[in-house]
Amino acid sequence: MSITNFQVCEEDLSPAILAGYLESEAIAVDTETMGLNPWRDRLCLVQLCDPTGNVTAIRIPKGQLQAPNLKRLMEAESVVKIFHFARFDVTQLRHRLGIETKPIFCTKIASKLARTYTSSHGLKSLVQELEGIELDKTAQSSDWGNLENLSEEQLQYAANDVFYLHNLRSKLTKMLEREERWELAKDCFSCLPVLISLDLMQYKDIFEH
Ligand code: MN
Repeated sequence: MSITNFQVCEEDLSPAILAGYLESEAIAVDTETMGLNPWRDRLCLVQLCDPTGNVTAIRIPKGQLQAPNLKRLMEAESVVKIFHFARFDVTQLRHRLGIETKPIFCTKIASKLARTYTSSHGLKSLVQELEGIELDKTAQSSDWGNLENLSEEQLQYAANDVFYLHNLRSKLTKMLEREERWELAKDCFSCLPVLISLDLMQYKDIFEH
């Protein structure tokens, strides 16, 4: 499988792309932001990929408060949304665009529950071990705020970050089933919205003594 189609949308998904994505069983999602602090650092790009490799990148201009078509997709119960470290992207989508993402599959949580033989749970390590491919992450720390002038390299990076998530999900699900941790994984995914509410209210470690 490879990226079959790649399009860039302005501010929201087009109705035609939304309709196509709503037919999918799952959509891989990633975001690019100005940094890691959701209060300070704005959302710049949302990337989506369906199981056939059809990738869309949505440019989110400064000050944008909503994206109704994206919201409809992200809140559709029939479409699983796959992320790597969902906690970050789902926080951004809620804080910036008022989107309540569901249902969620997080490849980082799945990896931590299944791959207990390693402490490497970054996307690069996962893609390397499970797909045998070397991901180029050099564009990760680049200026995503300069939306009109995103480079070919940045867009290629953005597309690659969502493309592999479908295969990772299926391989990690098999490992979790084999190790009898699939139910636990689903419970972890379900509690992410609560964790994100706590994050956004800046509570820390409320489960600690
Ligand atoms: Mn990314």
